[in-house]
Amino acid sequence: MRVVLMGPPGAGKGTQAAVVSGRLGIPHVSTGDIFRANAAGGTPLGLEAQKYMDAGEYVPDSVTNEMVRDRLAQPDAAAGFLLDGYPRTLAQVDELADMLGSAGTAIDSVVELTVDTDEVVARLVKRAADQGRSDDTEDVIRRRQEIYSEQTAPLTALYAQQGVLVQVDGMGDVDEVTTRVLDILGV
Ligand code: AMP
Repeated sequence: MRVVLMGPPGAGKGTQAAVVSGRLGIPHVSTGDIFRANAAGGTPLGLEAQKYMDAGEYVPDSVTNEMVRDRLAQPDAAAGFLLDGYPRTLAQVDELADMLGSAGTAIDSVVELTVDTDEVVARLVKRAADQGRSDDTEDVIRRRQEIYSEQTAPLTALYAQQGVLVQVDGMGDVDEVTTRVLDILGV
């Protein structure tokens, strides 16, 4: 199964992606996690990504697309994957379709977690306090929400046209949301 999980920053994508990918037995591919691991390891990719992440901006498409292309070419992703945080721009949507098309596959489902924006910002502020993420200051949180609405939210209309978009209420307990996601995926 090839699944994309979407939703605004703080919608609980990472948490749901980890649980749902485990249940489906497919790798969890989080571009944010890959960037953070590279930043922590001081790799050239990490150093490049860090400045964008710290400002709440998107890492350039060329950098992100190449990284995802490499990751999806790994053998463990051949039979399926759950993408978390990608695609986020129109150029990334096209690139992903191209990557999959050349392998004769396509995305099966795009799950959009819908949430209340005030609740989301409150969650992010709490996560900043708990984890000390350098991209979770209040200004950056606001900037990330703006960029999501401008650049990423419009992608859902495109996936809806393609008939692969499903929306899931992302509010409530983590377990409740997981059950909703698995139900809608027919698992
Ligand atoms: P996330 O953990 O998904 O919230 O991602 C954290 C940060 O990594 C984002 O704010 C961006 O700076 C960067 N990032 C993650 N995924 C992407 C993507 N698909 N395109 C561009 N930047 C990304």
